[in-house]
Amino acid sequence: MKLYNSATHTREDFVPNSPDIVKMYTCGPTVYHFAHIGNLRSYIMEDILEKYLRYAGYNVKRVMNITDVGHLTSDADEGEDKMLKGARRENKSVMDIAHFYTDAFFADCAKLNIKRPDVVEPATECIGEYIKIISKLMDTGYAYFAGGNVYFDTSKLEKYYIFNDHDEEDLAVGVREGVEEDKNKRSKNDFVLWFTKSKFEDQALKWDSPWGVGYPGWHIECSGISMKHLGEYLDIHCGGIDNAFPHHTNEIAQSESYLGHKWCNYWMHVHHLNTNDGKMSKSKGEFLTVSLLEEKGYDPLVYRFFCLQSHYRKALVFSWENLDNAAAAFSKLIAKAAALDPASGEVDETALAALKEKFSAALDNDLNTSLAITAVYDALQAKTNDAPKLAALADFDRVLSLNLIEKAAVKREADAKAKAAAANSFAVISETGEVDAEIEALCLARRDAKKAKNFAEADRIRDELKAKGIEITDIPNGVKWSRV
Ligand code: AMP
Ligand code: ZN
Repeated sequence: MKLYNSATHTREDFVPNSPDIVKMYTCGPTVYHFAHIGNLRSYIMEDILEKYLRYAGYNVKRVMNITDVGHLTSDADEGEDKMLKGARRENKSVMDIAHFYTDAFFADCAKLNIKRPDVVEPATECIGEYIKIISKLMDTGYAYFAGGNVYFDTSKLEKYYIFNDHDEEDLAVGVREGVEEDKNKRSKNDFVLWFTKSKFEDQALKWDSPWGVGYPGWHIECSGISMKHLGEYLDIHCGGIDNAFPHHTNEIAQSESYLGHKWCNYWMHVHHLNTNDGKMSKSKGEFLTVSLLEEKGYDPLVYRFFCLQSHYRKALVFSWENLDNAAAAFSKLIAKAAALDPASGEVDETALAALKEKFSAALDNDLNTSLAITAVYDALQAKTNDAPKLAALADFDRVLSLNLIEKAAVKREADAKAKAAAANSFAVISETGEVDAEIEALCLARRDAKKAKNFAEADRIRDELKAKGIEITDIPNGVKWSRV
């Protein structure tokens, strides 16, 4: 499998450290509010990566943190604490906010068929891990204490920028405007490992540490949680592209300085979902959540399909019109799958293998999900009986997770019911468009009599109608009447 590695800026062959297991880490949500569908684009594409690795035969152990402390409104350690902001907004405790939005996040994930990672770890559960790492960084001179906080000293590194030396624009990502400079830092990229002094005297969650009572910085959380569950060597680290700098850059700085060797081999970054006005936000414009999609009548899996139609390394523009197009394409796809006959015989294994090859080739090529969707259409059009087509769809859906088989079955049943209803339906129409309940009732009674093979009764009703001056003519699925 080829995977684009943001750390080397190239597509590389994916080779895990150990053939037995792929160790994968994902930056989890900051649980101060609902996730927007931009956040969820990142999690959908990371879910595809995890599922495709499993599909390709790897064992995977995937870990995700829940950021419930330390993430400030600026990723560069400035601004307000996001959790505190959420707690104030809702007049609740930080932990109540954290629990509520963690549950909301996984409920959204479930609706989008995003698998829950093997390990989900709240940042507040691992304080000891951060203290262990920070202590060693202090001992080895990679960290310093200033103005009450512990900072990482980036001047000690031979190379600090990992992801952005090819693209200066990336440097702007993650740095917010209107943020005042921290005078304690020796150089501008230094970052906080442990806060004891912050602008918020009312910081809700604090722990004892060798440097005083305080709380961890955001970046140290991911290094600590990853090492706790995945050890010293990581295969793949994922996140949205805005995490590349400074968050992931800082994770590498502190982890490798602590470990004394390379930490993670592959960095996978999902590009942003934008609106026509620019970057998606929880505070500006329409707050686009899974619940909002549902309120507007969209199946959340339409959004998953929409994401899969484009490559994860390209920015994607969200608009209701684009989502409508995806919804139309998705229902056409399901209709085609519904038209397949599940009782069409044996699966031709050679035909199935050929279909699978196309699908794997697409995802082997740096997770080309839009080509993988094309492989689904190709399977539907293959010149075989329906059995291998259905088998291919079921197989591909282990990765795509669009409920193709289930949705096709539901549609097939609904189509069959509609067909039966149409066959049973009986229209009573007058030549002139006139509606008459009594005539209609007599025509229906005649139909029932005919159905029951009571032809004498059927003839009697025809005569009764004639006596009323009504002439009837049988038509397919109905009867036409006129006044004579
Ligand atoms: P947060 O909850 O802010 O920590 O973000 C959760 C994840 O969503 C991170 O991996 C971010 O990089 C990612 N993310 C944030 N905004 C977007 C967006 N507009 N499109 C895609 N991913 C995003
Ligand atoms: Zn992280």
